[in-house]
Amino acid sequence: MNFAVIIVAGGKGLRFGSKEPKQFLPLAKKKMFLWSILAFKKVKECKQIVLVVPENKLSEMEKYKKQYGIDVVSGGKERYDSVANGLKCIKDDMDFVAVHDAARPLVTEKIIKEVFCAAVKYGGAIAAAVAKDSIKFSKNGKIISKSIDRKNIWQAQTPQIFKTSLLKKVYSGKIAKNITDDAQLIEKTGRKVALVDCGYENFKVTQPIDFITAKAVLRLRSL
Ligand code: C5P
Repeated sequence: MNFAVIIVAGGKGLRFGSKEPKQFLPLAKKKMFLWSILAFKKVKECKQIVLVVPENKLSEMEKYKKQYGIDVVSGGKERYDSVANGLKCIKDDMDFVAVHDAARPLVTEKIIKEVFCAAVKYGGAIAAAVAKDSIKFSKNGKIISKSIDRKNIWQAQTPQIFKTSLLKKVYSGKIAKNITDDAQLIEKTGRKVALVDCGYENFKVTQPIDFITAKAVLRLRSL
């Protein structure tokens, strides 16, 4: 069994607040998106890497195409548009497709392998972590409506890995605007998606504090 990965780096990173989208900023001596490419290159079952970038980054990415043997395509307005563009260039002989956020540079070979194994077993699997904090639901964003048992709350991460035919099928249909990950599309078909507990290190760099933390973790790993 083999798989291809679509690394989505097509976002503007507005919540981060930098002029350059965060995934192209240098992080512990490498641009952030490169850390994900290097992690997937360590997994022998990963036979194709597709990097999705904003259109104005295409020419800058030429050198990485050759250096890392990757395909590069331009992204779209929403994350799911970027995944859909990446899917178009997945080779026919890929059994599974992984989707991974370039904003999660701390993904490891171990996480990728564990999620891939679960995907092979169940048809689809995602990296995730159980909520650490107490969880409150609020209807108006001011007052607590109710508390939710955190034992049942999982925070979805990436990679998210699915059978290629399945992912292509859901992406060929209409996609609701509020979709923020790929598992949501598969869940809607009634198919099982397995959760793989990957802990808290594979967080998404969203705020400047996440960037500082990611840098510290990468430095520690290099010691
Ligand atoms: O916006 P969010 O934090 O959910 O983005 C997750 C990942 O999706 C990031 O790596 C981002 O670059 C990517 N993305 C994309 N195309 C978009 C929006 C987000 O590739 N239009």
